[in-house]
Amino acid sequence: ADAAALWRARIRDVPDHPRPGVVFKDITPLLADAEAFGTAVEAFADIVARHDVQAVLGLEARGFILGAPVALRTGIGFVPARKAGKLPGPVHREAYQLEYGTAEVEVQHDALAPGQRVLVLDDVLATGGTAGAAIRLVRRCGAEPVAFAVLLELGFLGGRERLAADFPDLPVEAL
Ligand code: IMP
Repeated sequence: ADAAALWRARIRDVPDHPRPGVVFKDITPLLADAEAFGTAVEAFADIVARHDVQAVLGLEARGFILGAPVALRTGIGFVPARKAGKLPGPVHREAYQLEYGTAEVEVQHDALAPGQRVLVLDDVLATGGTAGAAIRLVRRCGAEPVAFAVLLELGFLGGRERLAADFPDLPVEAL
């Protein structure tokens, strides 16, 4: 509970970013505070242990910052899911809807082992489009998505409900 209060205090609301009318949740003050960052990593590490996770898939770019220390802390590997065109070699690609247009995310096709138990990790759950694409990528690699974890969810955007509809048995963990 103390940790959650500190995380809240270290996440900043930025009005009108990246567009007018959007209130952006900025986690950079949390990253700059060693106690807040450290306790968040510990909380993600508990999720790894609880779900017997074998690899962390982090989403570009803040999912890299949060996911890499969680993987190291728990003694498992880190795998990046990147925006289209960045990763070398054969990749799996999934498209998802944005407010205007679509985006694509990729994972190297040999990045995960068949049956490997994977935690998909990002900073923020909004509409759930990004998370859904990442979860599908894990499946396309033949691996098993066992949970999706974020620092915070924007509940009013319905991401949790959307993920529940598409992936009924997948736990969604928001710190
Ligand atoms: P979704 O696909 O609509 O769920 O949006 C989630 C993705 O957009 C994540 O990769 C987030 O990093 C990013 N995102 C959306 N809203 C915010 C925000 O308020 N703060 C930080 N990242 C956000």
